[in-house]
Amino acid sequence: PKYVYDFNEGNKDLKDLLGGKGANLAEMTNLGLPVPPGFTITTQACRHYLEHGTVPDGLQEQVDEHLAALEKQMGKRLGQADDPLLVSVRSGAKFSMPGMMETVLNIGLNDDSVHGLATVAGGGADGERFAWDSYRRLVQMFGKTVLGIDGELFEDALDDLKRAKGTDSDLALEAGDFRALVGAYKEIVREHAGREFPTDPREQMELAVKAVFESWNADRAILYRRQERIPADLGTAVNVCSMVFGNLGMDSGTGVAFTRDPATGQQGIYGDYLQNAQGEDVVAGIRNTVPLTELERIDKKSYDELLAIMATLENHYRDLCDIEFTIERGKLWMLQTRVGKRTAGAAFCIATQLVDQGLIGQDEAVTRVTGAQLAQLMFPRFDESADRRQIARGMNASPGAAVGRAVFSSERAVEAAGRGEAVILVRRETNPDDLAGMVAAQGVLTSRGGKTSHAAVVARGMGKTCVCGAEELDVDVRAGRFTAPGGVVVEEGDVISIDGSTGAVYLGEVPVVNSPVVEYFEGSLAAADGDELVKAVDRIMACADEKRALRVRANADNPEDAARARRFGAEGIGLCRTEHMFLGDRRRLVEALVLAETEEERQRALDALEPLQRQDFAGIFEAMDGLPVTIRLIDPPLHEFLPDLTELSVQVAVAGNDATPQDRRLLEAVRRLHEQNPMLGLRGVRLGLVIPGLFAMQVRAIAEAAAERRRAGGDPRPEIMIPLVGAVQELEAVREEARQILAQVGRETGVDVPAMIGTMIELPRAALTAGQIAEAAEFFSFGTNDLTQTTWGFSRDDVEAAFFGRYLELGIFGASPFETLDRDGVGRLIRIAAEEGRRTRPDLKLGICGEHGGDPDSVHFCHEVGLDYVSCSPFRIPVARLEAGRAAI
Ligand code: ADP
Ligand code: MG
Ligand code: MG
Repeated sequence: PKYVYDFNEGNKDLKDLLGGKGANLAEMTNLGLPVPPGFTITTQACRHYLEHGTVPDGLQEQVDEHLAALEKQMGKRLGQADDPLLVSVRSGAKFSMPGMMETVLNIGLNDDSVHGLATVAGGGADGERFAWDSYRRLVQMFGKTVLGIDGELFEDALDDLKRAKGTDSDLALEAGDFRALVGAYKEIVREHAGREFPTDPREQMELAVKAVFESWNADRAILYRRQERIPADLGTAVNVCSMVFGNLGMDSGTGVAFTRDPATGQQGIYGDYLQNAQGEDVVAGIRNTVPLTELERIDKKSYDELLAIMATLENHYRDLCDIEFTIERGKLWMLQTRVGKRTAGAAFCIATQLVDQGLIGQDEAVTRVTGAQLAQLMFPRFDESADRRQIARGMNASPGAAVGRAVFSSERAVEAAGRGEAVILVRRETNPDDLAGMVAAQGVLTSRGGKTSHAAVVARGMGKTCVCGAEELDVDVRAGRFTAPGGVVVEEGDVISIDGSTGAVYLGEVPVVNSPVVEYFEGSLAAADGDELVKAVDRIMACADEKRALRVRANADNPEDAARARRFGAEGIGLCRTEHMFLGDRRRLVEALVLAETEEERQRALDALEPLQRQDFAGIFEAMDGLPVTIRLIDPPLHEFLPDLTELSVQVAVAGNDATPQDRRLLEAVRRLHEQNPMLGLRGVRLGLVIPGLFAMQVRAIAEAAAERRRAGGDPRPEIMIPLVGAVQELEAVREEARQILAQVGRETGVDVPAMIGTMIELPRAALTAGQIAEAAEFFSFGTNDLTQTTWGFSRDDVEAAFFGRYLELGIFGASPFETLDRDGVGRLIRIAAEEGRRTRPDLKLGICGEHGGDPDSVHFCHEVGLDYVSCSPFRIPVARLEAGRAAI
């Protein structure tokens, strides 16, 4: 196979093979933009290497060929003594993993070619300085990345040198200093890697390529992938790119930019520039960058060209792009571009802006945003009217309102989060080692770095609140405190609040309020009165609603939730759990039902419950007037409504002879009902069949409530759902009784209330015999919480603590099957049930009512399987609507 592609052979659609960076370098090359020539080694070669520990046959030869072609094009050979071709060896996977993997610059330098480089660079002190600085960077990066030596050792040697010179700036170091540093670095290599620094350029390149392959499995890369749900087996491509130099003097430099503001979507010039520096200096925050707009003053020609290129890229990619560039002695080079990460709010604004600019259509705009982003916009914000004490302001790097105790290291953040504490991770700047802490924290605050710094980029990707570059703060990580202007000292453990939308940092806890997007969904804020974001959300939701095939219902058990869900766009209730109606004061009535010894006693208990249930249903029918309301008959085991066995035993024992007969009977009943495996015990339809009159009472309450509503001029649409059915015979028995009651109530009230009768599919047997069950069911609702439990054979209430962490670590599943529907197992059962159920009854209504109904990936699955609706908690309804629209486009 072809393992190596020249930059002019690929294109942006080959990300699987060439990785994002390689594919986009190729795309820019084809667009005629100034990209330093080079080639890309495919992810396929990487996968082979990771699997077998050796590079695939033929790779060597192909690299040789492409290198020879590159050398010919550049008119110099790799590491040639008098005029060396130097290259960078850069990682680049399909999905961007900022800073997670490795890159080595300046490959091709050695004790000979360093002189050639100095001469070519113009000789003299400046040429020498540049060449030796480049060389020491190579030994340093190579030592750390390829040979696995602790990077601190090199940093320390550099610091020692600076201290000896009495300076703290790299700029004060001279050629001789860097030359000495190269010697010191080589010594470090010798000592810690047990080998000499390789001077053969081809060997340097080969080792670097392998190191990049291996960096795919670095700890932090693995952690990042898990967090971002990136598959573990993709591998990375490797880009070999001829070097250009931003460190050739003040007429050179390097920078990063966005084609628009990644925090708001506003068009403009956003980026950072650093004169006389090489690649990583910008991101690493070694020296302070200047805003990109300054470049106009520094180098107008390059600046204008850069703006023109940015416009070209936006029009070409029809999206926000971020770029890396370098200027070598007044000549601009493009080193990277990609469709850039952005905040959730910016995603909506940019999508509609692009529609207005005529770059994309309305439908495409819907695909440019995600349910996860919408969910983020529904987070609360700080209360504007509350008292608060602002102590500093940084950059609004990633929005949200975060409150927590200040911690100063990743470890402390993880520790505290483990204890369930909310923390804000405070650092001068972050690096990839801080990832675990960033995941654990509510928000991230840094004192250095701009919107393109590591903290900002990673936080935005994770949807984590971040304020960066709060330069007024003096952060002392070691002492565990920071100082703000006016002598305010915040120690580890003190509570602070940070606003990622404005960049403000507050002392203490600031109360939070609802987001305007929620107000818009609730109907208290009209789209026309909202800001750009609210208007954008309104437009995108309108399009998603128009496109989607799935209906969206709510899981709601009371009139308030039902009303709220309806405002959010619910088209009915997919799951109304009736057991909540047996709690509180009504518990006593349930006890009476359980203790009943005679037919009469039982009927009396049921008669007492019935009017209460009727009221509940009437309220819900009113809130959902004209829309279907699926009511599930009582599901959980009865003992859940009774006192705890141990407590009651103790109580009765302590009372001794004084224990009331009532308590003794209760204890007996609780003992009788006690189960080893209640989840698999007497519950659902089984209860209905064992306790005469229980389901009948519920059905009567439903029918009477509906009749009452109908008489009041309403339009109730009840659907009665029987839980935990495993065999059609169970359903038939209950259905027969239910029908009789419906007919009876019809006669009594003189109002005919049609009610569909259906079942939940939440046991594998139900799914597998769906063809039979559909004979007796007018609808199915997939109860995917129980179906997941029973398919996997593990209990949702116990697994999280017991072993899910380990399972996720081992990659046995990428996400908890309780969060995201397990397509292969549970999903397969759903497909079978949907197909066979519809074969029996073509107009069978199909829905889903587990937690999965509001999970984006699961919503897409439901669309694919052809369900009629998803049902989820009221707050997730907008998310489900949006994802259903995206699934249909
Ligand atoms: P990352 O994916 O972590 O950004 P890159 O491969 O883009 O890693 O490289 C790291 C830094 O080195 C970037 O700032 C990039 O611009 C710079 N760089 C990479 N290749 C070259 C090159 N050929 N010439 C000059 N600078 C380079
Ligand atoms: Mg890069
Ligand atoms: Mg269930």
